Amino acid sequence: MSDYVIAPPKINAAPIKGSDKLFPVRRVYCIGRNYAAHAIEMGHDPNREPPFFFQKNPDSIDFTGKFPYPSKTKDVHHEIEMVVALAKGGTNIAIDKALDHVWGYAVGLDMTRRDLQGIAKDMGRPWEIGKAFEHAAPMGAFVPASQIGHPSSGKVELKVNGKVKQAGDLNQMIWKVPEMISYLSEYFELAAGDIIMTGTPSGVAAIVAGDVMEANVEGVGELKVVVV
Ligand code: MN
Repeated sequence: MSDYVIAPPKINAAPIKGSDKLFPVRRVYCIGRNYAAHAIEMGHDPNREPPFFFQKNPDSIDFTGKFPYPSKTKDVHHEIEMVVALAKGGTNIAIDKALDHVWGYAVGLDMTRRDLQGIAKDMGRPWEIGKAFEHAAPMGAFVPASQIGHPSSGKVELKVNGKVKQAGDLNQMIWKVPEMISYLSEYFELAAGDIIMTGTPSGVAAIVAGDVMEANVEGVGELKVVVV
């Protein structure tokens, strides 16, 4: 093997609950508007139009429990989401086989520079500037499906400074986890290490420095993140 001309970038990897091992992340797929009430609050029709996805960068995932307030924005929103981690990939994965590809789950936050995303939307530009910045995806420890199964219902709740801001249920997802995996696999070759952020319930709102976000997905776990 030839040497690299610069040091190769580090692989970002998630801690695993109850284990010293790590889950290495390859790609981060995120679905948009996957809970009807959130689609409505963002000004969209919640009917079951085809799903759409964007990506965050694997190195934007942050397991430190701290979220540095990002640059060039005055309106950063929290979006609590269940995260799905894949143990194996493929293309054209059938819906009824999709869960066989799942390694486990986690609680994550799809932090969003909403003002910059709004400008991008208005101008028909891509969303990365609003979604894929440094530290934009705080996550908790990953938990294996072998321990918790495949949660398809259960409370999804985010508190800020002790007050409930987002409250929903996994059973409110418009596109279910097996459907998302199957759909993505028709457009991309999925692989072990890919993760999917499964969308957020309504109640997204702005945070400021000093806020404490406490995210909880019933049956998966919790995550506490301080805005610094
Ligand atoms: Mn989101």
